[in-house]
Amino acid sequence: MRQAGAPNTIVSEAAANAAIHTECVIVGAGPVGLFAVFELGLLGLKCEIVDSLAHAGGQCTELYPDKPIYDIPALPVCGAQELIDRLMQQIKPFHAGFHLGQEVTSVVRQSSGRFEVQTAAGTRFDAGSLIIAGGLGSFQPRRLLVPEAERYEGNQLLYRVRRAEDFHGRDVLVAGGGDSALDWLLEFCGKARSLALVHRREEFRAQPASVARMKQLAGEGRLRHVVGTIQSLALDGDRLAGVGVQQADKSVVDLPCELVLACFGLHPKLGPIANWGLALEKKALRVDTEKFQTSMPGIFAIGDINAYPGKKKLILSGFHEAALAAFGVQHHVYPEKRQFLQYTTTSPIMRERLGVAAPD
Ligand SMILES: Cc1cc2nc3c(=O)[nH]c(=O)nc-3n(C[C@H](O)[C@H](O)[C@H](O)COP(=O)(O)OP(=O)(O)OC[C@H]3O[C@@H](n4cnc5c(N)ncnc54)[C@H](O)[C@@H]3O)c2cc1C
Repeated sequence: MRQAGAPNTIVSEAAANAAIHTECVIVGAGPVGLFAVFELGLLGLKCEIVDSLAHAGGQCTELYPDKPIYDIPALPVCGAQELIDRLMQQIKPFHAGFHLGQEVTSVVRQSSGRFEVQTAAGTRFDAGSLIIAGGLGSFQPRRLLVPEAERYEGNQLLYRVRRAEDFHGRDVLVAGGGDSALDWLLEFCGKARSLALVHRREEFRAQPASVARMKQLAGEGRLRHVVGTIQSLALDGDRLAGVGVQQADKSVVDLPCELVLACFGLHPKLGPIANWGLALEKKALRVDTEKFQTSMPGIFAIGDINAYPGKKKLILSGFHEAALAAFGVQHHVYPEKRQFLQYTTTSPIMRERLGVAAPD
């Protein structure tokens, strides 16, 4: 999905088959990548931002959306999702193109000094610079590790729901004990032909209300709840026909099903970033502290993904890094341009870029 212009304007990716020409591509739409859009925008630079997740927010949205954060300057307390919502609001004037649900897989420096950037979904960019704000890496689903599982991934073994209707009228097994597993289980109840839940322990990480509802439905016989670990797949010819679940007493229960939705959570993986020829230090990108440039001129790294003496993986450190990296990008793309510091309070050009009226 490509969102161009205002973050809520959707343009079909087909229209963007040709490389998108831009001053900067930001890899990662976590809090730090989002703030980089703002800092680039203040300097009059346009950017495109890409994330492998289907939504912006990085760790804040994916790992702790409801938790309060207390160390964002001038916000005594701010929910993690609220912080992302506020950042999305703050960057609206700069009309960054959003490309969500796509991992940036390749970055190649051209002889012109520009970068050819590609995503797994086939989107291509011709970029003057890159800011990598990839955090801990791109989030990948934890996979079901049993023999033959790989063969069924993407057809009968799924790690995310693309269309809920695909599960209707089918024999569905949901695996996992977090909110995603329970939310989908409750959503499918009454719509799937048969429904089972497998979770390895009695305790759940999901909301207590969802767990209570699941137990009630199981008590009414509307779904089956089995405590145990999936240890094998049952096959019928080429088709997945069920799973074998090992219980605490080592006995194995066979559960027939035609679709398995495994919600074991997501884990970050540095992934393709490690292959872009950039100097690494303990699985992070080594940068300078003047402009947070990596070992390759024109490629900057900010937020949790970078390493330098004294680095602290905090959102506020990432915000500072974003400001200095934006100046670095400006200098890289327009080396002839004189740089000077302007204040948003007093700069007419910055106010114009922000779309706010001049004060009286
Ligand atoms: C439970 C918890 C509580 C926390 N509390 C606080 C707190 O109170 N205060 C604080 O300052 N910090 C806190 N943190 C840390 C804070 O969340 C991180 O420092 C912050 O999220 C880093 O932001 P980021 O934008 O650098 O990276 P992230 O938030 O990790 O975002 C990086 C994004 O990059 C994407 N990405 C990576 N590689 C690719 C690729 N190749 N292609 C496309 N996309 C890619 C990922 O999908 C991800 O969305 C907390 C962290 C956790 C887990």
